[in-house]
Amino acid sequence: MVGLSSFRETFSGEIVLPDDPDYDQARAVWNGMADRRPALVVRPTRVDDVLAALRLAREEDLVIAVRCGGHSIPGLSTCDDGIVIDLSRMRGVEVVPERRTARITGGSLLADLDDAAQRHGLVCPVGVVSHTGVAGLTLGGGMGRLQRKHGLTIDNVLAVDLVTADGRVVRASEDEHPELFWGVRGAGPNFGIVTSFEFRLHPLEHEITYGTVVHPLDRARELAGLWRDLAENGPDELFLSFGLTDAAEAYLTALHSGPPDQAERDLAELRAFGPPAEDSIKAMPYLETQHLADESQAWGHRFYMKSAFLPALTDEVVDICVEHATRGPEGAESGFSVWAWGRRISDVAEDATAFTGRGAAAWLAAETMWDDAELDDQCRAWGRDALAELTPYASDGRYVNDVAEVGADQARIAYGDAKYERLVALKREWDPDNVFRLNQNVQP
Ligand SMILES: Cc1cc2nc3c(=O)[nH]c(=O)nc-3n(C[C@H](O)[C@H](O)[C@H](O)COP(=O)(O)OP(=O)(O)OC[C@H]3O[C@@H](n4cnc5c(N)ncnc54)[C@H](O)[C@@H]3O)c2cc1C
Repeated sequence: MVGLSSFRETFSGEIVLPDDPDYDQARAVWNGMADRRPALVVRPTRVDDVLAALRLAREEDLVIAVRCGGHSIPGLSTCDDGIVIDLSRMRGVEVVPERRTARITGGSLLADLDDAAQRHGLVCPVGVVSHTGVAGLTLGGGMGRLQRKHGLTIDNVLAVDLVTADGRVVRASEDEHPELFWGVRGAGPNFGIVTSFEFRLHPLEHEITYGTVVHPLDRARELAGLWRDLAENGPDELFLSFGLTDAAEAYLTALHSGPPDQAERDLAELRAFGPPAEDSIKAMPYLETQHLADESQAWGHRFYMKSAFLPALTDEVVDICVEHATRGPEGAESGFSVWAWGRRISDVAEDATAFTGRGAAAWLAAETMWDDAELDDQCRAWGRDALAELTPYASDGRYVNDVAEVGADQARIAYGDAKYERLVALKREWDPDNVFRLNQNVQP
């Protein structure tokens, strides 16, 4: 690579090449199925380094994989033969408590944002596994347990700074490059490398109430009915997920972010629905909930998922899930989960951001995790078969961050025709050469 020696002179971060002892660790991403061999992995420490890495990539005609937390389901933050721009040395959060905002750098993880915000009794709605990257999660949408109260993560973005394909640093917000700001919120990885975000935060000082009640699978329909009732009539503070496991269990997980006495009242019906095989609902610090799934969702396993938005969680949908729940491949852990949507998510107009699917009552996913590569085909087939049967019950849009397949039509399916065309126009303006193409790609 002819440009490498001059790159070394300007680049202040780390450069990892295939002969280096930590190359295998540097090329690894969260999903064990994405086993790729980049020509180099670079870890910038500042915006100038990101610009230098982009210049090198363009001069050497290298495909670019941008990485924050490395949790892309299809492994879009790694590549064969190209350059990985790994932002993991650009982690940092600065909270301004009096304005209730946080400025956070482009390589930060959810834990960084959660910890810094909670130190001031504040919170930003993000996802549920603390080692996920803020950038990848936010740029696709960002769903989590505070979404009915505070919206998607993108609904709390005030501005982003990004390095664009032509090597500029641009700020996008409602006032600066508003069309770019529209596209960044849902299709973000297509338009540049975000080096920092500014988020709006919300007060959350008391303990929240969190836990799961578990019942046998044959009560799935009844439990789903309760989910429907609570999701429709419960307060914005109440987040609910209904799920089925391959151990023939149906469960309902709740997070109530209101005061504990209000939570006790709002969850009384759920707790009286019994007798449960297990009931772990109790008051606890919000930060504790944000780490509960960290280990079960650890790096390196193989993973496949397929999701859809639903206008309603009907009995027919529940029956299809029940039928598939215990048919997951032996040796894998498989299941369904259904998250309550609505409230602040649907308060935002569907065309206000590139994200598509705000009108849904629920998000449903079939997920499977395993270690033996021999099971790859079976596991993918399990998820695909289940979702194929559920498709007639789905509403418009797909959550782009869940799409495990990569292909020319995926982005169009996720965003729908009208938004896709609007994104194409934006892509032609900001990245006509498709420099940033390792994402659910909008083709210029
Ligand atoms: C264990 C696990 C739990 C999850 N939980 C949730 C959840 O609760 N809620 C939810 O909404 N989603 C969740 N997801 C999905 C998650 O939002 C996506 O996988 C997301 O893309 C991960 O972001 P990342 O930064 O970790 O990934 P990466 O693999 O680093 O990046 C993902 C995509 O974003 C691009 N990208 C990364 N950083 C930048 C940047 N700074 N600028 C521009 N582009 C960038 C990458 O190029 C890639 O295309 C989860 C995924 C996993 C694996």
